[in-house]
Amino acid sequence: MKQILPVSNPVTSYWLSQPHKYSNLRSTQDLPKECDIAILGSGMAGVTTAYHIFKQAETAPHIVLLEARQLCSGATARNGGHSKIKLSTLASQVPKLGSDGVDELQAFVQGVIANLKQVVEDEELDCELEIRRSFDVQLDNTELASLKEIFDKSRKAGHMWTKDVGFALPQFLEQVTSIRGAQSAESVPCASLWPYKFVTQLLERLLNVQTMTPVTLISVLPDGRNAITTPRGVLKAKNLVFATNAYTAGLLPQFKDVIVPVRGMATHIVPKVPVHPHLSHTYNITFRSGQSADYLNPRPDGSIVVGGGGPAFKSDRPSWFNNFDDSTRFSSEVEQYWEKYMQRNFLGWEDSQAEPELVWTGIMGATPDSWPHVGRVPGRENEWVLAGFNGGGMSFIPTVAKAIAKMVIEGSDFDDVKADFGMPDIFATSTERLREAFAETQ
Ligand SMILES: Cc1cc2nc3c(=O)[nH]c(=O)nc-3n(C[C@H](O)[C@H](O)[C@H](O)COP(=O)(O)OP(=O)(O)OC[C@H]3O[C@@H](n4cnc5c(N)ncnc54)[C@H](O)[C@@H]3O)c2cc1C
Repeated sequence: MKQILPVSNPVTSYWLSQPHKYSNLRSTQDLPKECDIAILGSGMAGVTTAYHIFKQAETAPHIVLLEARQLCSGATARNGGHSKIKLSTLASQVPKLGSDGVDELQAFVQGVIANLKQVVEDEELDCELEIRRSFDVQLDNTELASLKEIFDKSRKAGHMWTKDVGFALPQFLEQVTSIRGAQSAESVPCASLWPYKFVTQLLERLLNVQTMTPVTLISVLPDGRNAITTPRGVLKAKNLVFATNAYTAGLLPQFKDVIVPVRGMATHIVPKVPVHPHLSHTYNITFRSGQSADYLNPRPDGSIVVGGGGPAFKSDRPSWFNNFDDSTRFSSEVEQYWEKYMQRNFLGWEDSQAEPELVWTGIMGATPDSWPHVGRVPGRENEWVLAGFNGGGMSFIPTVAKAIAKMVIEGSDFDDVKADFGMPDIFATSTERLREAFAETQ
């Protein structure tokens, strides 16, 4: 297999329709020769890590951020723009983590939303952040009884993860959710935003950036520094952060088959006839139990960003699994999935003439246990990683990046800072977890 590296000509997305003035920025003509901290990747993970290092460090370190393509052109610019955790995800973790563990996970994601809001307000970012609620809607409610059983048991025991959840009234499901054929629905807190604008505006306030600079090799020098090889030369950095998500195994072979590139699809649907009232919730919609959900983020202008469409392409495994080619779209047969999507599924949209205006692909970093890898790179001294965010980076990264910033500044480990950030143990990377994940995928 060829090296896992971002392809040079990705398709565009709705979120990239207003490119930032720094999208091709190279702060210096030549690649700097040395720096204190190199960060690889300019998505949500890389840029928020840089931001929090500057916020937390007593004296500003010399940071260089290296990006293989244009600024923020990976998954962060291709996703649903949606930060939440589904109720079914929380309930499914009770047997593994216990209700206390799920309390911690839910509180962490809730904290991420607060954290996003604080950065947006502190830095006056114009990225259409909305604090709102989200519906998880099922058109097949065969799993509702088991979900309710787990939920009620935890609720009666007073567990916090059950507190901010609303079950829609069964007799008004379609009316309340606007979704035709809804069989059950739960509402949970969430935030939505324009992630590309969040990242690029934050970066504007920061540092030395080198776009179009793919990193092809990392080696450790005798003095402990990292030698970072690129086609533009070698950068030597005392500390190194991998914010390379789906592509991490391309530089760290120990993550091969542990963080696997997975291709996803999303679209921007625009009604030709405005629809009122405005959809104020975001959604996860599961059409059939056991299938992946679609995620739907109504924009403030009345258009919709919706991602997923798994049922249309999941049977063609090579088209998405272990696939890091976002230079092509799925076939037109697959993209048919989005035709009349809103008219089919949402009450009140029948005459909207809503059409998918743009369909795109993006690459996620999938892990077998579905949690990210966070902490010091196993077996390395001056290297840290935050990657493998599956389909939910917006719900974890803003706080994970804050924690990584602290580890880099202090030279510390996951366990040293986790309590400061309420970070669940399941996020910690370790040799043991890598071994287990690798064994699971063989
Ligand atoms: C279609 C789709 C829909 C999604 N929907 C949602 C959603 O609604 N909510 C949610 O929470 N999450 C969603 N996600 C997942 C979310 O987008 C990711 O978890 C998140 O953006 C990861 O951020 P990141 O910064 O870690 O990775 P990325 O944004 O992918 O950034 C990694 C960067 O590293 C660069 N890079 C990689 N390797 C190298 C190298 N060797 N040298 C230099 N640069 C390199 C890449 O070019 C890239 O810019 C979705 C993802 C996709 C694809």
